[in-house]
Amino acid sequence: MADAKALTTRATDFSAWYNELIARAELADYSPVRGCMVIRPNGYAIWEQMQRALDQMFKDTGHQNAYFPLFIPQSFLSREAEHVEGFAPETAVVTHGGGKELEEPLVVRPTSETIIYSMYAKWIQSYRDLPLLINQWANVVRWELRTRLFLRTTEFLWQEGHTAHATEAEAEEETLRMLGVYRTFMEEWMAMPVVTGRKTDSERFAGALRTYSCEALMQDNRALQAGTSHNLGQNFARAFEVTFQTAAGGLDHVWNTSWGVSTRLVGALIMTHGDDAGLVCPPRLAQYQVVIVPIYKTDDERAAMIEAADQVRRALAAGGIRVHLDSREGMKPGAKYYEWEGRGVPLRLEIGPRDVAAQSVMLARRTGGKKEPLPLTGLADRLKEIMETMQRDLLETARARREAASIRGATREQFIAHLEGTGGFVYAGYCGSPQCETEIKEQTKATIRVLPDAEFRSATPPTTCMWCGKPSVAEAVWARAY
Ligand SMILES: [Zn+2]
Repeated sequence: MADAKALTTRATDFSAWYNELIARAELADYSPVRGCMVIRPNGYAIWEQMQRALDQMFKDTGHQNAYFPLFIPQSFLSREAEHVEGFAPETAVVTHGGGKELEEPLVVRPTSETIIYSMYAKWIQSYRDLPLLINQWANVVRWELRTRLFLRTTEFLWQEGHTAHATEAEAEEETLRMLGVYRTFMEEWMAMPVVTGRKTDSERFAGALRTYSCEALMQDNRALQAGTSHNLGQNFARAFEVTFQTAAGGLDHVWNTSWGVSTRLVGALIMTHGDDAGLVCPPRLAQYQVVIVPIYKTDDERAAMIEAADQVRRALAAGGIRVHLDSREGMKPGAKYYEWEGRGVPLRLEIGPRDVAAQSVMLARRTGGKKEPLPLTGLADRLKEIMETMQRDLLETARARREAASIRGATREQFIAHLEGTGGFVYAGYCGSPQCETEIKEQTKATIRVLPDAEFRSATPPTTCMWCGKPSVAEAVWARAY
């Protein structure tokens, strides 16, 4: 059909497949600066759809957007002890500006807790100023040594929510609310099922009281941390003297939360749904949900088919569908199909003279189902129905795949065998000791992804630690992770 070389298959080399898919779909490219990436228009369009959906969800839960500086005084980072220890090794530092050495070096933000809470100290006086619910869309820089497009790059795009509350209970409620927002987004928009729960202390955000996470399982059965939400307690409020007058007339430190997701989600999307033909994009996040390809032999036919196709395009756009007409000349239909397939477009419509005569179009789905003719009458509504089904099926397929790769109540031997074999999530008992956690990581490269929320826990709770045999304090989910 097309002359381009096929992608390396997922089964042969998942990592090569991932890189080739990104190149073919023109999602991102390597940059002249090591470790940084260029997000190309096709990749950025997916990020924009993600942003739009998330931004609305943040606003619907009472948050406002603001913007804080890229540069942070270096001394700010050291005010919270765990925070500086966690982030100092990977910061980029500006020492010169305008040809002169700076009095105090500036850190290029790796995350914005410190600069934001230094401002909150000015803005918050009384309990009437709380809660303060702010989100920022920004870029951040973390000096990574080993990078991969979308998954781990030195600079990446993200959002970071930062809130301040009067009580620990309110901060905890907010932390969990935003974890829930992320989960809803991942399931309903990305069609990516996640396991939610709390991180152990060793995986906790530097400076947080408690960290919660959404964990997804990629097609190579490695886990990916897709979004985190932190209850920061009063740690940063103490470091930056963010105090408020309580309703009772006393003085107290505020309780903070922070939460974020990044362009890493584009990588998660690729590795959740992509197949050996390229990207598979869930309809709700697709740049183009429908692409129309006109089919013709002669110049006369060409004009007529493009006119007919454009009428369909206008009708679908009016129906609220993101649609593109591929009227490029000098390119065979097969080559166009191949290209749009690689880019993950959910639906393709072909329109030729026979279709026009029959007042219909030929529909090809990116996943799930053979080609079929559809009448022009009621086309937009029919396509929307098909996309809703497709969106649901993608989620269910991904969930079934994850469950097939998950084992529960594993013994130490089963745990090791599973990780050495197909890989995936392992649910098992955990004694709570950091020593077991470290030993397991060193010997198997698996980490505790989360101590899962109630709905994900096994029906029969484990009684002993899978590793050391001591009593279990919590069920844990392990996997090798990105
Ligand atoms: Zn143990």
